[in-house]
Amino acid sequence: MLRHVLLMLARSGQMKEIVTRMPVSSGIVNRYVPGEETAQAVEASRALIEDGLHVSLDFLGEDTLDEQQAEATVLSYLDLVEGLSRAGLARNAEVSVKLSAIGQALPDIGPELATENARRICRAARNAGTTVTLDMEDHTTTDGTLATLHGLRKDFPETGAVLQAYLYRTEQDCRALAHEGSRVRLCKGAYKEPEDVAHQDRHDVDKAYVRCLKILMAGQGYPMIATHDPRLVRIAGALATRNGRMPGTYEFQMLYGIRSEEQKRLAEAGEKVRVYLPYGEEWYGYLMRRLAERPQNLTFFLRSLVSQK
Ligand SMILES: Cc1cc2nc3c(=O)[nH]c(=O)nc-3n(C[C@H](O)[C@H](O)[C@H](O)COP(=O)(O)OP(=O)(O)OC[C@H]3O[C@@H](n4cnc5c(N)ncnc54)[C@H](O)[C@@H]3O)c2cc1C
Repeated sequence: MLRHVLLMLARSGQMKEIVTRMPVSSGIVNRYVPGEETAQAVEASRALIEDGLHVSLDFLGEDTLDEQQAEATVLSYLDLVEGLSRAGLARNAEVSVKLSAIGQALPDIGPELATENARRICRAARNAGTTVTLDMEDHTTTDGTLATLHGLRKDFPETGAVLQAYLYRTEQDCRALAHEGSRVRLCKGAYKEPEDVAHQDRHDVDKAYVRCLKILMAGQGYPMIATHDPRLVRIAGALATRNGRMPGTYEFQMLYGIRSEEQKRLAEAGEKVRVYLPYGEEWYGYLMRRLAERPQNLTFFLRSLVSQK
């Protein structure tokens, strides 16, 4: 129930106005988002890479209906890729892109514009020696995002996909994407979805995750296991052994600021681990989704909100 309210608030303009008066440096924001500027994101990446981790950076923003805003986001990604390259970090740091942030939802021209914009980011990433993964958003965008992915992969086959285990369709999508060279991030799914498209019960989502993971780990692609769930991490390890996969033929992924000790433990045990690192001014929707996953953090969040001057 609380989770649903928080996910609704993630899309409320009024709440956003109140919350975004909090500085990014306030504890609860800073825990999940290291800063608003490219330089801060590059520095946070450097620290993680020095700890033996890999990184995927997300310039925060989503759902834009403004072409100029979409263009500004593309330029921020180009600036980021250049920053990573200059800092010598591009080999260990890729970027994650939400198509809705680069124009997908614009009337008429949306899908074409977003694909062209994604292509520009893929080209810059390729030139810098790194890759792009397309984040997955709510279910109304799944087909469009997969169509863009297929288009991009013709020229940039290294482009990563994301599939969400909570959607009923995802086992099928896993089968279609478990081919050689195909990088697929499997996550549980972070949006409030209706009953006719997605599992609602946590246990059902977990079971679906395992079914999808079995398909990806037995396939020819490169599975990216995006979860903080200790049980699923253990199951992924067992499936890797069962399928004769060595570390580096798959990877674990976790969010910046969540289970950081576990991230280091896995890396020290020889696993490849990538940290998803979001940055930028548009941290509101991202923060609300993280709070929805962990309502225990709500007291801390409300205290930060009340104490702001
Ligand atoms: C790298 C990465 C990329 C992602 N990309 C997408 C995407 O493109 N599209 C999408 O819909 N979703 C995405 N997600 C989010 C994902 O769908 C889940 O909403 C999120 O990862 C929480 O699910 P979980 O698997 O960690 O399991 P949960 O059942 O939520 O959590 C399992 C355990 O992890 C710990 N934990 C989880 N969340 C928190 C928290 N906020 N604070 C502290 N501890 C916590 C707790 O110990 C909890 O018991 C991504 C997640 C990751 C890790």
